[in-house]
Amino acid sequence: MANKENPNTYKKKANAKRRKKRLFYKRLRLLAVIAVLAVVLTLAVKAVVGKKDDSSSSSSYSSASVPSSQNSTAPSSSAAVDNKPDKGEFATLVNVHHPLEDDFDVTTREIKGTGKLFDVRAADRLEKMLDDAARAGYPMYLVSTYRTIEYQKGLYNNKVNEYLNMGYDQRTAESEAAKWVAIPGTSEHNLGLAADIVSSTWYNSNSDLTQDFEETEHFKWLYENCADYGFILRFPKGKESITEIAYEPWHYRYVGQEVAHYIMENEITLEEFWEE
Ligand SMILES: [Zn+2]
Repeated sequence: MANKENPNTYKKKANAKRRKKRLFYKRLRLLAVIAVLAVVLTLAVKAVVGKKDDSSSSSSYSSASVPSSQNSTAPSSSAAVDNKPDKGEFATLVNVHHPLEDDFDVTTREIKGTGKLFDVRAADRLEKMLDDAARAGYPMYLVSTYRTIEYQKGLYNNKVNEYLNMGYDQRTAESEAAKWVAIPGTSEHNLGLAADIVSSTWYNSNSDLTQDFEETEHFKWLYENCADYGFILRFPKGKESITEIAYEPWHYRYVGQEVAHYIMENEITLEEFWEE
């Protein structure tokens, strides 16, 4: 009698069976996905918590890798404006009132393809900024980065000698020279975290660094984006009485991403950041 069963009924039964089976596998897949998600989430939470306590390891897997102490605690850029961040390890104030020790030393490495040296801890940030600028259509030229205090001494002494040869006394020669060349140890270039950057084309047609650079699209890109890479425009226009340095639209200083956002978005100087 069973094989006399209406073939339609049989089909229906078979279909129902298949549907049940499909539903079963569907549930199984869902469970598997949930399990995988749970594991991934647990690992992610562990990674974040672990990183907060570990400021010495470098995050080489992150494409936007900044020194991990910056990376792990960095809040969103808007939050940085309201809440003053810690100074961190990169906001060192170097100026004529805060010279570096004579035996100051820093580990540097070459910025790829330039022959210029930069603090090894921030070199990848400078490279990333230059790469992204070029990709956005603004190829830059690195004019000057790290200078040893010894080299700075040479520059400075040459200038002093020029004035001595002109007949100035030692004291006057030194103070005149200091107007053109930073006294050794008082230049951010001695720190290894400063870079003079202009556009490639601009540099080829201008033999010297001049304030006209601010009129270029390249400058605009740097000004608007530098903080994302941890850099600030160090000697802004209108702040000369505070920095005691003329406006330099080409001089960028690495201070770390959080501090950079705070300084750039509040339009202050590193001096003011330290005094606040
Ligand atoms: Zn400079």
